[in-house]
Amino acid sequence: MREQLEALEELSRTDMAFRQIDVELGDVDSQLAELRANVDKIRELLNRERQQLADAEKLRLSHLAELAAIDEKSVRSKKRQEVARNARESEATARELEVLKREKDERTAESERLAQVIVEVQGNIARHEVDFAELARHLADEEAASAARTADLRARRHTMEEARKSVTSRVRADLLRIYSMALQRRGSGVAECTQGVCRGCNVTLPPQLYNQILNADRVYQCPNCNRLLLVPRAALR
Ligand SMILES: [Zn+2]
Repeated sequence: MREQLEALEELSRTDMAFRQIDVELGDVDSQLAELRANVDKIRELLNRERQQLADAEKLRLSHLAELAAIDEKSVRSKKRQEVARNARESEATARELEVLKREKDERTAESERLAQVIVEVQGNIARHEVDFAELARHLADEEAASAARTADLRARRHTMEEARKSVTSRVRADLLRIYSMALQRRGSGVAECTQGVCRGCNVTLPPQLYNQILNADRVYQCPNCNRLLLVPRAALR
């Protein structure tokens, strides 16, 4: 029984190491995914800001064109005012000029506001382009490092697969079946058993069963979690 227990213990150690490698492989992937998401976020932000800049510039140009049109109208109104034939015509053009002046003031204020917005957005874009370049460089470095790390982990996994095959061949088929089932359901196929307690599920075992386990005449299963129970080393003769 001693060889079976030892083989099961080794098999369990191997399977835990597999799990550790798979966790590390997953971590490498999720770290990269997070970095890529951050790069995408800044790229989208930059796209939005460039669109914002284009919109503001277009709007400002249209204001400038309107200002030019208002100036032209004002010149025409002034000329009409100069040749006004009576007070009514003169007042009418004065009102016209008043309205044009108000429009001009409004458009000027708006176009100045837009000029400020444009400078602001240009500043944001410049800053975010620096951030983007840095992050993209960082991502490229991490991708290279991750590729190396992944290759290393896969190589170790491959070596362990060979080792697992050889230890598996030492475990009796019926025990291997029980082990595999517990591994699948509980995350581990074996559990230490000390001071009458299964350390896999922390249930106290019936004293008679514990005595039998200590005798190590055969491999026992925990009646609660179904894991195969490993006997404390001191109890093994
Ligand atoms: Zn148990």
